[in-house]
Amino acid sequence: MIKYSLICENDHEFEAWFQNSEAYDKLAKLNQLECTVCGTNAVTKAIMAPNIGTKGNKKQDVTPATQAKAKQAMFTAVAAQVRDYVEKNFDDVGKDFPEEARKIHYGESEERGIYGEATPVDAKELIDEGIDVVPLPADEKDKESVN
Ligand SMILES: [Zn+2]
Repeated sequence: MIKYSLICENDHEFEAWFQNSEAYDKLAKLNQLECTVCGTNAVTKAIMAPNIGTKGNKKQDVTPATQAKAKQAMFTAVAAQVRDYVEKNFDDVGKDFPEEARKIHYGESEERGIYGEATPVDAKELIDEGIDVVPLPADEKDKESVN
């Protein structure tokens, strides 16, 4: 016996047992498969993966936890790219970041992209002054190399 997840033309998903895959193929060819919900014979094997991005009632297969995980993975990947770009193209001003950000903002320093360290208080003050600061995701290996 073999169990298949089936889906009808109206997006009803259900499971059915077959003797073997040939039995399924035979029934499918003869249009003998029937949706257990609406009775249509327009039934095909449901595609099991991936669930993300599919439409209709298949959404119920994606749990919030799965979505959160996918989002987190995506965020981590993007964050790593952003961090990489910033480190390659921006000036590292270290602990002078709040000071330097202000100088650039008020035209006392050459306008350029910088990055460095700022406490949450520093960051809030900068934002209050209308200076754009974006927190970069922490990188574990950086924490170890910085004393
Ligand atoms: Zn149906």
